[in-house]
Amino acid sequence: MCRHAAWLGAPRPLTSLIHEPEHGLMRQSYAPRRQRHGTVNADGFGMGWYDPAAPEPVRYRRAIPVWADANLPGLARVARGGCLLAAVRCATVGMPVEESATAPFAAGRWLLSHNGRVARDAVRDLAGADAAESTCDSAGLAAAVFHRLRTAAPSSTPSAAGLGAALAEVVTSAAARDPEARLNLLACDGTQLAATAWGDTLFHRPCPDGVLVASEPLCDDPGWRPVPDRSLLVVTPDGSRVQPL
Ligand code: GLN
Repeated sequence: MCRHAAWLGAPRPLTSLIHEPEHGLMRQSYAPRRQRHGTVNADGFGMGWYDPAAPEPVRYRRAIPVWADANLPGLARVARGGCLLAAVRCATVGMPVEESATAPFAAGRWLLSHNGRVARDAVRDLAGADAAESTCDSAGLAAAVFHRLRTAAPSSTPSAAGLGAALAEVVTSAAARDPEARLNLLACDGTQLAATAWGDTLFHRPCPDGVLVASEPLCDDPGWRPVPDRSLLVVTPDGSRVQPL
């Protein structure tokens, strides 16, 4: 399982997900505490953020360990926004190790990350004619979610229900075709976050100025709350909601 994390709230830098917390994604890349599958997340990393100047996110991905990028600490200190997503990757056996297979995947204003694995055949026809960024299973899941979102919201009106509904539909469809699949997805559009717990851990932590979401807690603060397995978490500026899938 890879590890991912996101923030929705007052603008802050990506270091707040990666470097600053005691168990941020930098530490989780070599010493995750809750990871059940895989040990080290050294097959790549990525981050995305929303600059007020553009509706589409800025994305930075590398197919190297997060600790091996000497430029990252400086970049992550100035890359900031009110909606952030970052991930470190432990590639599933048989999946390509390349930048295009590394989260976050992107389309339009959406970003998506996946912890887990799924048979590629189980998701191939969920994306319609839309091409995935890579042959990696996670890229196929992302293409399926983006396809749902484009189909559901052609006017490109942001909708919390739409983002959560797209994740829920893709996860339940993929799980029906591959009952062994692990499908923890995390997605955002600049104004909201949505995440699924399906086979791996997921936590959220309400803060005075926003909400953190992560595969596992970024620190030992007691405010981290587990999301039950087979649930959908949706975070908007109005608060967080968890519902069963
Ligand atoms: N299956 C995905 C990949 O190969 C995600 C792996 C993971 O969660 N460890 O990248």
